[in-house]
Order: sequence, then C-alpha cells, then structure tokens
Amino acid sequence: MATRNPRMHGKVEGAAGPCAVPGCKQPGEYKAPIQPANFDGPGRWRLMCLDHVREHNNGYNFFEGWSAEEISEAQSPLAGWERATRAFAHAGGDPPPAWRDFSDPLDAIAARFRRQREEDARSRFTRPERRALSVLGLGEATDRKALRQRYSQLLRRYHPDRNGGDRSHEKRLAEVIEAYQTLKTAAAFA
Ligand SMILES: [Zn+2]
Repeated sequence: MATRNPRMHGKVEGAAGPCAVPGCKQPGEYKAPIQPANFDGPGRWRLMCLDHVREHNNGYNFFEGWSAEEISEAQSPLAGWERATRAFAHAGGDPPPAWRDFSDPLDAIAARFRRQREEDARSRFTRPERRALSVLGLGEATDRKALRQRYSQLLRRYHPDRNGGDRSHEKRLAEVIEAYQTLKTAAAFA
C-alpha cells in the first residue's frame, strides 16, 4: 500500500454540481470511478454524493459504517481497489454485485434509489428501521407487541445463555439486538 496521504482523494473540493444519480438532490462531491470491463488503472470519474458513492464503490454495503475519510482513502488509485477486493472476499451475507454484472453501475444505483424513494413514500418506517425489520424478519404491519415477541423469540434462539451454550450465533445475535434497539424507538410505534 502506498504511504498514507492525509489529503482527501475521493472528495472533490469545490465541486458544485449535483450527484450523478438521476433524481438525487445531494451535492456530487465524491469521485465514483467508471470502471470498464478490463480495468487496469485509475480511469474516469463521475461525481456522486456520499451515500451514492458508497453504493457505487461497494456493491451496496461494503462502506457501511466507514467515515468519509476512510472512503476517500480507499478510493486512492489502485491501493483502494486492492483493499476493496480483499474486503469483498471476506464480506458475509449476500455477495455484492460484481462490476462485470453491470454495463453501468449507475443504472443499478439509480434503480435502487427510485425504489427506495417509493418505499419511503409508502412506509411508516424510516430506511434504517426497515432494514432492522428485515433483520428480524418482520414486515410493515408489525406493532410494538409483535416486535417484542419476535425479539424474545430470536434472543432465545441465538443467545448462548438460553440455547444451551451454542455460541455460533453471536454475530446474528448482535444484529438482532441492534435491530431491536433501532426499532424500539420507532415513531411508527408511538
Ligand atoms: Zn446521490
């Protein structure tokens, strides 16, 4: 890896235009590499907002929880791609889409963005709350009682103190607890 450069590689200072994802009103401040099928070096860029450059670069969840600075550093030429590739190899859950699956990743991001806005308009829950519901296997119709029931059911299933000492579900248990923490204060339950 190249020496750490404190400069923000990915963020473009003074960028004035909007994000490249159609319909997104956020400022396009981050470089999203346009990667051709035979990518062999840093190429052209498209400017996107932070949320969308995260999606663009990560197959939707790779940068979740990263700071803007970490993302920028990962975008430094070549070193960033190498790091991204390694991280992909260890990522759990659904495999992120491969670059070769898209003729243009922007198409996939824009489609997802439209779908999310439709869901925002339809749902009683915020986006993080909807993610939490899906972790718990719950839907839109969930009320506070159903949330608590599901939570205790999953705690019994995954907690080693309650399932005979099986520690193999610790990651899942942490996700369940986090999802419950997110949902227990949901405005939809107020
Ligand atoms: Zn955007």
